[in-house]
Amino acid sequence: MKFKTFTIACACALTLFLFAQRRTPPAPQQLFAGVVDLTHSISEKAPNWEGTAESPYKVKPLASFEKDGYFTRYISLPEHFATHIDAPAHFAQGVWTVDQIPPQRLVAPLVVIDVRGKAANNPDYQVSLDDLAVWEHDNGQVPPGAVVMARTGWSARWNSMKEYRNADDKGAMHFPGFALDTVKFLVQARKIAGLGIDTLSVDYGPSKDYPIHHFTAKNNVYHLENVANLDQAPEAGGIVVVAPAKLEGGSGGPVRIFVLLKLGTVN
Ligand SMILES: [Zn+2]
Repeated sequence: MKFKTFTIACACALTLFLFAQRRTPPAPQQLFAGVVDLTHSISEKAPNWEGTAESPYKVKPLASFEKDGYFTRYISLPEHFATHIDAPAHFAQGVWTVDQIPPQRLVAPLVVIDVRGKAANNPDYQVSLDDLAVWEHDNGQVPPGAVVMARTGWSARWNSMKEYRNADDKGAMHFPGFALDTVKFLVQARKIAGLGIDTLSVDYGPSKDYPIHHFTAKNNVYHLENVANLDQAPEAGGIVVVAPAKLEGGSGGPVRIFVLLKLGTVN
C-alpha cells in the first residue's frame, strides 16, 4: 500500500470510529415494550424446603461505613433456595452442572400455562396435557427451545412459609406441580430448554420420588423454582432471560429471571 493511500485509509477509519462513538445506543424501551422481574428477593424470610424456623440463608456484615468507610456483607445459602435454578446435574450424573448450561439455552421464548383456577380448588394439582392443549390451541405450538412455566397462583403465599409449604399432619407438603406425561411430551415432542413454576418444586408437593426431576435431568433440561410475578408475564410472546450465578460444578444456584416483553405483546 502506498503511503498516500494508507493515510487516506487511516483518515476514513478515524472518521468512522468517531461517527460510531457519537451514535447513542438505542434505549431498551425502543427494543422491548418492558421488562418483568420473575425473581423473589433472597432473604431470611424466604420459605425454605425443610420448613425450619431458622433460615438456611445466612448474612452477616463484613464492613460498615461507621467502622470501615464502606459496606460489604458475607452470605451463605444452599444452592436450592428462594428463586433458583436446578441444573441437570442435580438429579443425574454426567450432565450439565449449572456453569455448563449453554447461554443459548438461558435466553428463550417463554410459555406461561395458567392453572390458577384449578390449583385454587386442588393444592395437589398437576399441569396436564389438556392444559397444554388449551395453550397450544390459543397460541400455536410451543416453540423449540422454550422455557415453559406453570402459573399456579402459589406465589401469593410467599410471605407465609406455612401456607407456601402447606404441610399436612404427617409432614407431606401440598402444592401444585407438573404431571409427568405433560413434561415427557414437552421434552420429547417440543424440545423445551427449561421448566419453571411458582412453587417449591416442579414435582408436586406430595411427591416422594421426584419423577420429573429424574426425567428432565437425564435430558439436560433445567428447572426454575419459586418463580415470582408470573401474573405479570404474558402467556405467549415474551422472551425469558435466565441468569444463574455461575457456580463451578454447581447442582443449581440463585438465579435472576427477567421477561422481555416484545413490542406489541398484549399482557
Ligand atoms: Zn431445586
